[in-house]
Amino acid sequence: GSTIGILGGGQLGRMMANAGSAMGYRFVALDPTPDAPAGQVAEQIVAAYDDSEAARELAKRADVITYEFENVDAGVAAMLMAESYVPQGSELLYTTQHRLREKRAIEAAGVRVAPYREIRSEDELREAVAAFGTPCVLKTAMGGYDGKGQWVIRGENEIPEAYETLARAGVQLVLEQFIRFEKELSVIAARNPQGEIKAFPVAENIHVDNILHLSIVPARISEEVQREAERLAARIAEGLGVIGLIAVELFYSEGGELFVNELAPRPHNSGHYTMEACRTSQFEQHVRAVCNLPLGDTALMSPVVMVNVLGQHVAPLLERMAGKDEAAERLAVAPKVHLYGKKEAVFKRKMGHVNVLAPDIDAALAWVEETTIWKV
Ligand code: ATP
Ligand code: MG
Ligand code: MG
Repeated sequence: GSTIGILGGGQLGRMMANAGSAMGYRFVALDPTPDAPAGQVAEQIVAAYDDSEAARELAKRADVITYEFENVDAGVAAMLMAESYVPQGSELLYTTQHRLREKRAIEAAGVRVAPYREIRSEDELREAVAAFGTPCVLKTAMGGYDGKGQWVIRGENEIPEAYETLARAGVQLVLEQFIRFEKELSVIAARNPQGEIKAFPVAENIHVDNILHLSIVPARISEEVQREAERLAARIAEGLGVIGLIAVELFYSEGGELFVNELAPRPHNSGHYTMEACRTSQFEQHVRAVCNLPLGDTALMSPVVMVNVLGQHVAPLLERMAGKDEAAERLAVAPKVHLYGKKEAVFKRKMGHVNVLAPDIDAALAWVEETTIWKV
């Protein structure tokens, strides 16, 4: 029984600890919020992520250290490397923390990203917008999530305000060509220190207000595109020397091409469907990879739709769950509810998800449609 330390104590850490506890590991999470989601199912050190004393304590208590978010302070990462065993290393963090470094690494692995340019001034932005045409997307190179830190430039007149707003944060900027996509997809791949690589089935992702709403598996694209997306993810895992999980977000363009949007070196919201629908969940796979165990079978056992539960959905969902679910019976679907134990159901905050196992995708989507709580 060794102990796994997790930097971060949110829902990803919680589900990682749940999966790994079943395998006999102990967990200790470092997170500033007392009684954090992971702290409810594992031990917790309550301190800021960049508190080096607390990180040292984590290193002392854990045999292996991993993380559930990529914005780990470089100094903390270096200290953990020196004091404990961090199989994922610090280079993958360094790469995926920064959009430009990440894009260059993806290209170096032989995979396509949306055309982009580094932007260092308003003049450079003006030139790049002229070259790409509108719409195009200006993004901060670091720190963005859920669409925060980006601006879709729809006309040249928006350039000064877009630049002024995003440059204010003082970080580097990137301009991307706007990809007219047919679908947004993601693939999560795992690689262990032996170099074994396995990819999970491709998810088709639907966002609402830049927050993931649905993941649909199997994705409604040809087998050929599915295989290609899985191959790209494996190539990235290999090229970047990933240990653990790498989540690859992709655009499938109207022109029928795959472009990588961004990466996450950790379990991903679009991989939550694996918990009941695959023979191995992404969380078990992550634990296997960082503990240098053989990887588990990623085969899909059932069609599934994952639907996110945000703050505004919690009360109506609980009310629904208390009664008989006639839609589920009629549609022959099994909705599996996961809640993360977060105290305040804040509007738009990720509070949980439901994996709807179904005979086919249409039945699962019909259940989501009839369970009207997701209209807000
Ligand atoms: P996440 O929460 O996934 O980390 P993020 O803030 O890092 O989000 P991105 O994933 O880069 O942001 O972009 C958010 C969404 O904006 C994408 O899922 C996609 O719908 C849209 N988008 C981003 N870049 C482009 C692009 N170049 N072309 C078309 N759509 C884009
Ligand atoms: Mg992102
Ligand atoms: Mg994204």
